[in-house]
Amino acid sequence: MADLIKLIRLIREIRDEAGTCKRCGSCQAVCPVYAQTGLESDVARGKLTLLEGLEQEMFKNPKGVLKRLDRCLSCGSCVVNCPRNVNVLEIFIKSRVAIMDFTGLSMVKKIILRWGLSYPRRFDYFIKSVSLVQKLFMKPAGNKSGTFCVRQFFPFFRDRHFFPLANLQKYGKAEPLNPSSEQNRSIFSKTSAPYNHKKELKVAFFSGCVIRKLLPGIARASMDALIFNNVKVVSSDREGCCGFPAIMAGDRVTFNRLVQYNLAKFESLKFDYLVTSCATCTFAIKKIWPMMAKDSRINLERVVALAEKTIDINQFLVLKGELKEIKKEDKEPVIVTYHDPCHLKKSLGIAKEPRKVICANKNYILKEMENADRCCGFGGSFNLKNYSLSSRIGVEKQRDIRATECGIVASGCPACIMQISDFVSKAQEEIIVKHPVEVYMS
Ligand code: SF4
Ligand code: SF4
Repeated sequence: MADLIKLIRLIREIRDEAGTCKRCGSCQAVCPVYAQTGLESDVARGKLTLLEGLEQEMFKNPKGVLKRLDRCLSCGSCVVNCPRNVNVLEIFIKSRVAIMDFTGLSMVKKIILRWGLSYPRRFDYFIKSVSLVQKLFMKPAGNKSGTFCVRQFFPFFRDRHFFPLANLQKYGKAEPLNPSSEQNRSIFSKTSAPYNHKKELKVAFFSGCVIRKLLPGIARASMDALIFNNVKVVSSDREGCCGFPAIMAGDRVTFNRLVQYNLAKFESLKFDYLVTSCATCTFAIKKIWPMMAKDSRINLERVVALAEKTIDINQFLVLKGELKEIKKEDKEPVIVTYHDPCHLKKSLGIAKEPRKVICANKNYILKEMENADRCCGFGGSFNLKNYSLSSRIGVEKQRDIRATECGIVASGCPACIMQISDFVSKAQEEIIVKHPVEVYMS
C-alpha cells in the first residue's frame, strides 16, 4: 500500500513538472536526436506532452512510453536551452522509475542490475572472468586508436570498434608523497616547479566502472597528475558503480543499494575532496544522488555532504591544485582538439578547466573543433538500443574532429572516449582519443 501511494505521488509530480513546459519548441533547435530524425516524438516537447498523461499511458502502453524515453541521449541540451527551466532529465529519470515501479524489471535487467551491478565484488569477478577469455572472440582493429573488433564468427557487435576489458586493478596510493622515490621521480622531472608538501591536500579517487574496467590508463594518469601536484591520494579498496546505469534503467532498488554502498566506503576514509575523472560519475554523485535521495530512505544530509566534496579532476587541478606546467621538450608540438562531454559542460558548467589542463603541457597545442559541445551520440543504453542513430551523430563528430587535423582528441568522459574511438577507428584516422589528464601527463 505504501508503495502504491508513493507511486501515485511520483506520477502526479511528473505530471505537474511536465505541465510546466509551454510547448515553445526551443528544444527542437538543440536536440541531437531530433536533428537526425525530425520527429516530434523524439524531442523533449513531444516526450513531455506524453508524460503529462502518464497516469493513463502507464495502463495503456508502458513499454511504448519507455521506448520513447529510450530515444534520448540524456545530453541535457534541451535543459540548458529551455526558457522555462523545465528539468527534462529529472522528469525523464523519474518517469522511468515510475514505470519500472509499476511493471517491474525484465528478467535480463534483473540479472544484470540486481544480481550483478548491485554487488561490486561479484561484478568485478564476473568482468575479470570475461576478460580472461575475451581474446577468443575479439582481435585488434589494427589502427592507431588501439580499439578492437569482433572475430568473424562472432554474431554480435560486428559493426563496432571498442576497447577490450582491462584486468581490474587497485589504483589507491595512500603512502606519503615522496618526489625522490623511484616511482615518482620520472613524473617530477617533467617540471621545474618545486615540490611543496605544505600545500598537500588529501583526496579520495573515484575511478568509475568504465575507467576501471576498460580504460585504466586514465586512472593511472589521474593518480600521476594528483601526485605531481602535491596531492595525497587515498582510494576505496572496492568502490561500487555510481548507479547511473541503474537509475537510467528505472531501477531505484539497485541505485539506492549502490549509493549506500559507496557512502559507507567513502565515509570510512578521511579526505578533503572526492575526485573523479568520469563526467558521468561526477554528474551522478553531485546531481542525481541528492535528487533521488529526497524520495528514499537514504539520509539526504550524508548524500549532500559527499556530493559537495565531489569534484571533476580537471576542475580540481585548476581550482584546488597547482596545475604545474609541463616543460616543452625539443620536438614538434602535437595538435589536440577537445570534445565537451554533455555531463561536464551542460550539466555541471565545466568547460574551461579541461582545456587549461591540456594547455598546461607545453608539448601540445589546443585547436578548437566546430561544435565542440555537440553531443557525441553515445548516451549509454541509447548506443546499445539505437546504434544506427547513435552512429549518424558519432560520424558527424568524427568529421568535426578530422577537420582540425589534430593528432589527439581529448574528452573528459570515458563514455565519450569510447564513442569517439569507435568512429575515429572505423574511419582509419591517425588520431588517438585521450582524457585531458592523459594528455597532461604524457
Ligand atoms: S524549450 Fe522547454 S518549454 Fe519550450 S518546448 Fe522545450 S521543454 Fe517545453
Ligand atoms: S536530453 Fe538531449 S537527446 Fe534528450 S530530449 Fe533533451 S536534447 Fe534531446
